[in-house]
Amino acid sequence: MEKVINIAIDGPAGAGKSTIARRLAKDLGFTYVDTGAMYRALAWYFIQQKISLTDEVAVEEALGDITVSIGHEGGEQHIFLNGTDVSREIRREEVGNAASATSGFGAVRRKLLSLQRDLARSQNCIMDGRDIGSFVLPDAQVKIYLTASVETRAKRRYDELKEKGQEADPEKIGEDIRTRDMQDMNRSIAPLIQAEDAVLLDSSDLTIEEVLNRIREIAREKGAL
Ligand code: C5P
Repeated sequence: MEKVINIAIDGPAGAGKSTIARRLAKDLGFTYVDTGAMYRALAWYFIQQKISLTDEVAVEEALGDITVSIGHEGGEQHIFLNGTDVSREIRREEVGNAASATSGFGAVRRKLLSLQRDLARSQNCIMDGRDIGSFVLPDAQVKIYLTASVETRAKRRYDELKEKGQEADPEKIGEDIRTRDMQDMNRSIAPLIQAEDAVLLDSSDLTIEEVLNRIREIAREKGAL
């Protein structure tokens, strides 16, 4: 079998990881794996079952009743929770915040780790998340740490929600981003950090095309393309 190529893109909420990863995957013919969606799917279940997001024991117990799987259709990732496609439901802000609250639990992270590693082992993929370069795929040939200022990220999230016709309060979005950064960066297990061998890209003043070009360049330099 030919050598499998893995590209890891990590960074804080709203830095543009999914937009970039999806586009790049399409251009290169790689599979896009959105690991945030997996944490969101679990969080969606906890919300549905009215499980307290701060009750680690209850969350851990509930994990035994959940199966998460992913499939791809027309290049898009679909996420299934106990066989039901929840791709749309998990995009809500409330679910992202719940995912951030529960992703610090060891049992939650362990539940998703093998699914993520198995996907990367079998195919060329671009995986985005928080701990992909630092923990999930330490041997990924290309590692990008994509970030942007809080203001830029809040503005992007606001525009995105507005475009979808959803209610959006700019101040609340900024606050949520700060809370998520704090939670994601300070948890004891697999926190959001830039892997030693990851390349830092600040997208605050870059267009999507510029970020894509830079990543392609880095991938070529690493001999991955
Ligand atoms: O990227 P997204 O906003 O969909 O992620 C939702 C939450 O899932 C993040 O705030 C983070 O707490 C968690 N997450 C994680 N590790 C990943 C991907 C996401 O902890 N690899």
